[in-house]
Amino acid sequence: MIITVSENAGFCFGVRRATEAVEELIKNKHHDEIICTLGKLIHNEQYSEYLEKNGVYAITSDEIERLYSLAKSGKRVTLVTRTHGIEKKTKEALEAYARECDSFKVVDSTCPYVAKIHKIAKENSSKEKIFFVIGQREHPEVLSIKSYIEANGYICADSLELENQLKSIKCDEKEAIMVAQTTQKLTEWKKCQEIIKKYCTNAKIFDTICSVTEKRQTEAEILSQSSDAMLVIGGKDSSNTAKLYQICKGHTSKAFWIQTSADIPFDEIAGAEKIGITAGASTPDNIIQEVKKTMSIIEENFAELFEQSEKETQKNIQRSNCQGYRNVYFGKRNMS
Ligand code: SF4
Repeated sequence: MIITVSENAGFCFGVRRATEAVEELIKNKHHDEIICTLGKLIHNEQYSEYLEKNGVYAITSDEIERLYSLAKSGKRVTLVTRTHGIEKKTKEALEAYARECDSFKVVDSTCPYVAKIHKIAKENSSKEKIFFVIGQREHPEVLSIKSYIEANGYICADSLELENQLKSIKCDEKEAIMVAQTTQKLTEWKKCQEIIKKYCTNAKIFDTICSVTEKRQTEAEILSQSSDAMLVIGGKDSSNTAKLYQICKGHTSKAFWIQTSADIPFDEIAGAEKIGITAGASTPDNIIQEVKKTMSIIEENFAELFEQSEKETQKNIQRSNCQGYRNVYFGKRNMS
C-alpha cells in the first residue's frame, strides 16, 4: 500500500497565524483575563475543544456588549477575530471599544487575503457599478465582504446563479466588478470568468482565490487521479474541505470526508493500493499525522496478515495435494 499525503494539506498561512496568536495569548494569560474568539476560530471540533480546555471560548456578536461591560468593570478582556474577517460595523464597534477602554483588547486575525477583498469591495463598489461575489451566501467570509460593498452587490453561489443574475441586469450600462471567496473552487471560478465576459464587455475581474487554496485544490486533483482511494480530512463545517472533497469525488468513487482517524472507512478502502490524503486549511497537523500513522499501522498489519494468510494457503494447497496423491494412489478412503 502506498500512502501519499498532499504537500499543502492542513493549516494554511492564515490559520497558522491566527492559531499562533491565540496560543501566545494562552501562554501569557493573566489569571483574571477573559480570552474569547468571535465565532469558532477555525472549523475544527478538536481544535475548538482544545481551546475550551485552555479557557478560550467562542462567543457570538450578540455577546460582545456583555464582554465590553465586563471590561468596563475592570476585567481584562481579549477578543480574537478569525481569519474569515468580520462585518464592517462590528469591526468599527470593536475598534471604538478598544479605544475607549484599556481593559478591552482586540486581536484581529483576519487573513490578509480576505482583508484585500474588503479593500477591493470598498474601493470598487458604488451606485455606478455592479459588484459580484462568487461564494457561499451565508459563509462568514462572504458576509464580511458583503458588508464592505457600497451598492449594487450580488452574491452568486456558482456560475449558474451568476448567469441567471446577469440575464436580468443591463450590465453594459454599468461597470461590473467580480471577486471570489478565497476558497472558491477553481474550475467554477474559471466558468464564472467566461460568463461575465460574455455579458459585460467591460468587466473587471479580481482573482481573489488565495494561492494556498489554489495549490491545495490542484494537488488534490492530481493526487485523486492517481489514487485508488482518497481521505479528505477536515471539519464538517469547513467550506474549503467541502471543495477538496468535491474535487476528489470527481476523480475517484472512493473519496471519503473524515474528521479524525476514528472515521477511516476501513472496509471501503480495503484492497486499495494507492491511498491519497489531503486536508482542509483548518485541519491541525497532529490529526493528519494520526490518520497517516493509523494507515501505516494497518499497512504493516496487513502485510503480516497477508503473509500469514499466504502461509495458510500454501499449507492448505500442500494438504490438498497430499490428499490428491493419496486419492490417486490409495483411492478415496479414510487414510487416518
Ligand atoms: S485559506 Fe487562504 S484566505 Fe483562507 S485563511 Fe488560509 S491563507 Fe487565508
